[in-house]
Parts: sequence; structure tokens; C-alpha cells
Amino acid sequence: MEEAVAKSGLGWYPPGMNIFDSHCHLDDRTYDRDREAVIERARQAEVRALMVVGIDLPTTRRAVAIAEKYAHAFASVGMHPHDARHCDEKTLAELRALADHPRVKAWGETGLDFNRMHSPQADQELWFQRQLDMAADAGLPMIFHERDSGGRFLKILKNNWGPERTGVVHCFSGSDQELDSYLELGLYIGITGILTIHARGEALRTQARRIPVERLLVETDAPYLTPTPERNKFKRNEPAFVRTVLLKLAQLRGVPAESLAPVIWTNTCRLFRLPEDIP
Ligand SMILES: [Zn+2]
Ligand SMILES: [Zn+2]
Repeated sequence: MEEAVAKSGLGWYPPGMNIFDSHCHLDDRTYDRDREAVIERARQAEVRALMVVGIDLPTTRRAVAIAEKYAHAFASVGMHPHDARHCDEKTLAELRALADHPRVKAWGETGLDFNRMHSPQADQELWFQRQLDMAADAGLPMIFHERDSGGRFLKILKNNWGPERTGVVHCFSGSDQELDSYLELGLYIGITGILTIHARGEALRTQARRIPVERLLVETDAPYLTPTPERNKFKRNEPAFVRTVLLKLAQLRGVPAESLAPVIWTNTCRLFRLPEDIP
């Protein structure tokens, strides 16, 4: 029944867009029963490419396996700040080896999250630093996760950044000043379905209007952060719903989705160093 509703919802979209879900967790166990159908619904919603993001060693391995199976799916390797306390040099070495896989196009997610503190600050900072080193060694763009780090994320980042480096602050939820600092560092900004959520998205809706268009990415962070209106029907987010994020972003910026979509597609391909004609 859920599937029928999702399909019927596709009718109100204009034709002919290419959309890149720049951040999803398609390896998540919640998709084990219907992953194929989820990917097909994304195709119907014109989601032509997906970045499947690792958060630890097992999820990274699964992300790579998905990227091997689907020509339009790519993988990233990383250890999420939530799991930093489980990290060690051996894990990092295994991630580094996976980073050389031809389907791996980014390092992350890594960063700092002092909101939930699933790992102690010292562990988070140590493994964030080490992953900055590893990504540089692998020559990969980075996918950052930052929440409530009180300036620590930016401080560590600035000490490790240079013109040869690139990355995205995924699921951006920072202050205006943090946004400006990220833009100054040349980073891309990942916009999720939070944009569509009434109270929670208020600050983001204002910020999203002033981000330079060439730095914008869209993402689902599926299975989390289901946008409105899909969240009224589905608890689980999925890549097809990134289309809703794109449409909302276009509406907020006062431009047609058909003209915003190709710019965001180009941005995402530029960041992940992919050819624009992904099959
Ligand atoms: Zn994240
Ligand atoms: Zn994520």
C-alpha cells in the first residue's frame, strides 16, 4: 500500500530533471526487504545518482557492495562521530584500503556531534583528525557531519584545510556564522528534508536562500529525516523523496526546479569528481 501511494505522488513533478541524492544510507537494514523497489521508485522520481554513505566498517562494506551492483550508485568510507569510541587504527586501515576501491568517491561521514554525545569528545576529535589525514592520503573529497560542536569542528577543520581539499557539510544545521565559514573554506552545503519541516526548518529556510547556487547540494539522509509531506505517510525516508527537497529549495529561491536541478547535479558531480553523464 505504501508503494502505491508513493508512486501516485510522482504525477505532480515536471519531466526531465536529473537529481542526485548526495547522501543516503541505502545499506540500512530497513531496506533489506525492498531495496530494489526503493531504487526503482528513486529512478521514477528522476533520482539519477546516489551517494551511499558509510558510518562504520560494516556499513561502508555494504555501501561499496551496493555501488558495485548499481551503475548510478557510489560509496563513501567513514566512521561517524557517534561511533568514534569504537574506532581504532586497524579499523582506519581497513577503511583506507576500501577508499581505493573504484566505486568509492568520498570519505565520510566524519566530523563532530556534541548533541547526543554517543562517543566522548576526545574520541570524536581524535578520529576526526585521523580521518582528515586519511582522506588527504586517499585524495578523496569529504562528507562532514557537524552538530553542536561549539566551534571545535571548524577549528580542527581550518587547521587541516587547503585549496587542494574539498567536501560537503551534510545536513547543514549550523549558525549563520558557521555557514559563512564553510563557504569561505570552499565547502558545499547539503540540504535535507529539514527544509520542509515547519518549526525545525525555519532557520534553514532563510539560510538556504543565500547560499551561492554553485555550493548547493540536496540529500535525503534516508532512512532519517523524511520530508513533508511524505512524513505524514511514511516513517522511513527514501532517495525518491530528495525530489521534494529540491522542489522546496527552488520554491524558496524563487526559481523553477527545472533550472535549479541541473546546477545542483553539476555541483554534485564536481564535488565527487564524477562525469556528468552517469548511466
Ligand atoms: Zn550525518
Ligand atoms: Zn548520514
